[in-house]
Amino acid sequence: MDCLPDSKPIAVVGGGPAGALAAATLARAGLAVVVFDEKLAWEKPCGGGITHKALVAWPFLRDTQVERNWVSDCELISPSGRRVSFHLSQPIAVFSRCVLNGLLQQKAEEAGAKIVRDHVLGLERSAGRWQVQTSTGRWDAAYVVIAAGARNRFRTQFSKPFAGDDLMITAGYYIPGHSQLMQIQFLAGLHGYLWIFPRADHFSAGICGKLKDQSAAELRRLLEQWLEKSGLRFANAKFFSHVLPSLRAATLRDTPVCGEGWALIGDAAGFVDPITGEGLYYAMRSAELLSQALLAEQPVRYAELLRKDFLPELQIAARVADRFYSGRWMGQTVIERMVQFTAKSPSFRQLMCDLFAGTQGYVDLRRRLYRSLPAILAESLASALRLPSGGAGLETGPPLGGGSA
Ligand SMILES: Cc1cc2nc3c(=O)[nH]c(=O)nc-3n(C[C@H](O)[C@H](O)[C@H](O)COP(=O)(O)OP(=O)(O)OC[C@H]3O[C@@H](n4cnc5c(N)ncnc54)[C@H](O)[C@@H]3O)c2cc1C
Repeated sequence: MDCLPDSKPIAVVGGGPAGALAAATLARAGLAVVVFDEKLAWEKPCGGGITHKALVAWPFLRDTQVERNWVSDCELISPSGRRVSFHLSQPIAVFSRCVLNGLLQQKAEEAGAKIVRDHVLGLERSAGRWQVQTSTGRWDAAYVVIAAGARNRFRTQFSKPFAGDDLMITAGYYIPGHSQLMQIQFLAGLHGYLWIFPRADHFSAGICGKLKDQSAAELRRLLEQWLEKSGLRFANAKFFSHVLPSLRAATLRDTPVCGEGWALIGDAAGFVDPITGEGLYYAMRSAELLSQALLAEQPVRYAELLRKDFLPELQIAARVADRFYSGRWMGQTVIERMVQFTAKSPSFRQLMCDLFAGTQGYVDLRRRLYRSLPAILAESLASALRLPSGGAGLETGPPLGGGSA
């Protein structure tokens, strides 16, 4: 199908960042859109960190008056206990997901989309139309956008289910408190990390790890151990756990994301950076690319637009993720080297800032690294010969849990 039957609306299943932004874009262009979400604005398990790259792409996220926290300082802690703090050249906005989802759903509604709070039970196609079965009724639709997140019943119907190797499991707590410092701790043997992201009036503190390597209970134990050491009281805090797509390169390459009358966007398509876990940018960008294809009345061009846009970035990240978490670089683990160079080399620190901002992608990361390597090595050597000064500080503390996960 290369154009939409015009008398029926587009049904968007899921009103998270992907679904809500797709609905806002399509409705603003004059299409009839119905968004179904069983929870609407809710505290979907998340760090809530929005990078500079996303704030530039959608300035309303930067300019909005809703409550969020601007974070400009970051601390990285290596498995051996090396700690480095540095100032981010571009701050990260940290949102509560209830607030972010509410903001995006409001945009969709203002653009003319109909928002329905309901659970979608089934999607059936006949004679070029869809029937959307919800817990309270049936709706006709011309096209269905599956934006139902990582845990959704429709992925199997339209594409392939996520394999264990394609998922991370996460566990975390929302803990009252306030700070401007974002902390990231790596552990030996963990393909993932622990984080503390400060929001406006609480922290999202959590851990992510590959589902094939760790059980949720084991991750939770490691997180609680870290929170105790960090002095954050979680005894009465709300616990969360959720899956996070972390697709392998082959899955990204081989899995269909659109077909006759349907498309997957956001987490439902698995569009999350497999190294950092950043998914909000890709959820919203995939929503935009699908909207572009639908508005051009060429829905199947969505796959091509993805290939020309961020898919190469995610594919490189998928190929190097194992090397990042468990490989070695110049005689040490990649992560120990990364923390050490961040502390000792201004050139490397700038590269880290650009990675955190999202302005440095993976496609030309290797070229930049090798071009800057002489400067990084010279700066690190010079720093080793004098006391560390300016921009970043390196300290060593005890490794968490004896340094092994
Ligand atoms: C613990 C954790 C921390 C994270 N931290 C970050 C971070 O700091 N920064 C970042 O960029 N990314 C982060 N991510 C990733 C980010 O949360 C996701 O990429 C993002 O939420 C994807 O948006 P989405 O709209 O595709 O899916 P979702 O946000 O999951 O939205 C899906 C929506 O579909 C609805 N739905 C599902 N099934 C149905 C149904 N049958 N009927 C009706 N409604 C349905 C749900 O209610 C939900 O509202 C994190 C993820 C996790 C798990």
